[in-house]
Amino acid sequence: MRVFSNAKTLMTLYKDYRTMNDDDLTDFYQSKCDYYQNYVGISLMAGVLASIGFIGADYIINGTVMPTLIPRLSVLIGVIIFFIVTHFLKSRSVVVFMDFFLAHFIVISLIWSIYHLDDRIHASEGFIIMNIVFLTVGFVAKPSETFISSVVFLVEILVTNNFNHYPSLEIIIANQIPLALAVFVSHFLLMLIYLDHYRVQQKLELAMVTDPLTQVYNRHLLEKIITKNALKDISGPVAIAMLDIDHFKQVNDEHGHYTGDLTLLYIGQKLARGTHEDDYVIRYGGEEFVIILKNCDVNNACARMEQFRRDIEAATDTPVPFTISVGVSRYTGDFSKSIQNVDNALYKAKNTGRNKVVVV
Ligand code: GH3
Ligand code: MG
Ligand code: MG
Repeated sequence: MRVFSNAKTLMTLYKDYRTMNDDDLTDFYQSKCDYYQNYVGISLMAGVLASIGFIGADYIINGTVMPTLIPRLSVLIGVIIFFIVTHFLKSRSVVVFMDFFLAHFIVISLIWSIYHLDDRIHASEGFIIMNIVFLTVGFVAKPSETFISSVVFLVEILVTNNFNHYPSLEIIIANQIPLALAVFVSHFLLMLIYLDHYRVQQKLELAMVTDPLTQVYNRHLLEKIITKNALKDISGPVAIAMLDIDHFKQVNDEHGHYTGDLTLLYIGQKLARGTHEDDYVIRYGGEEFVIILKNCDVNNACARMEQFRRDIEAATDTPVPFTISVGVSRYTGDFSKSIQNVDNALYKAKNTGRNKVVVV
């Protein structure tokens, strides 16, 4: 039964994988790479050490370490290139390329060492062992990258057969094809399992920045925006509005806390629907909301908030009738200064009769 339920889970994950758009896929592969790269890096170093350690087996075959010493140690050149490139270039494509580069560097050093062995019958063992390295590298790769690497590995064997003349070429190829297939299939399944982990992680990250009552963002998102200085990167003008429900304490006192909660939910949902997809609606405090309006100058923001205020005033579907006061200001490039400006604007709106929009 467990097998069936696992298969069903994998099918659901596969459907999810097939319906991801390009941006989702890019983010997913980046996340998978970030998660597994340390493990892959450590495993590659273990592969390098094992590869150098095969000098012992060479000694048993040749009776000396000399002819294979340099080919075996040549793998260290690959390690140096790997560290230099990955130190300066950190993008996923470069990191994955360098992982495969080092794995294939180990293959080349293995092939070079085989060339110097008196008895090349053991080449097939060497190639089988290499599949363990490829099994590891696949953790950070896309299925297509694992597939290309397997083809390159096969080509490396076939081309070098011209001068290495592997006595067991048929056996090597006969082993190589199912092993490459096994590596590919296992990584495809692993990718689906990682997708499960990725979705849980996404849900947790969203829950972290979502206010459970109103379902808009909470202050954690605001802190993220501030620490990442995210508003600086927006090309057009940005406006900030701060909205506060008028006499909300009275709503709670006269109609009860539950009606107060429904009112907060109402306004949160209305704000989310009434703003653009890339704007941020944030529950800033109890009954205060901050709205970050992207590509919106202060006049436009003022007009939009005024329309919103009127809609609330005239709405007939609210849990109880209520009004709002709003402060609006342009984003100056300094978030704390801008928030201070909208706070002052809101203060003015409250002190001059409420149910209005004031710009500072
Ligand atoms: P003003 O017009 O000056 O804004 O008056 P106000 O009564 O709205 O202002 P005040 O800040 O004094 O009151 C805010 C109230 O919001 C007090 C608090 O009980 C209520 N509140 C805060 N969070 C929640 C919540 O999650 N649910 C409910 N129902 N009430 C909340
Ligand atoms: Mg209030
Ligand atoms: Mg308040």
